Amino acid sequence: MDNQELSDFLAHIDSCPECKEELTIQFLVKVGMQRLEDGNTFNLSSELENLLNDSKKKLSARRYLVLISFGLEVAVAAMLAVCLLLLVAL
Ligand SMILES: [Zn+2]
Repeated sequence: MDNQELSDFLAHIDSCPECKEELTIQFLVKVGMQRLEDGNTFNLSSELENLLNDSKKKLSARRYLVLISFGLEVAVAAMLAVCLLLLVAL
């Protein structure tokens, strides 16, 4: 999923109880099956919360990177502009 999709998805999950329940059920089924095999069914719902929180953290980290690369582009453009001005001035 790209940033926008992930953002929309997470926002929707936060605001839509039906989808959150759907996701919870899917998660519980998927992880629950693994855990039944492992014999460890402890703390599944907090694992889902962690998963959602991790996704949110990754999303803000990605946004931060986008912001940094934009800042770098602006800085490079500004440096090029200064170089051009110097060339013209000399
Ligand atoms: Zn929904």
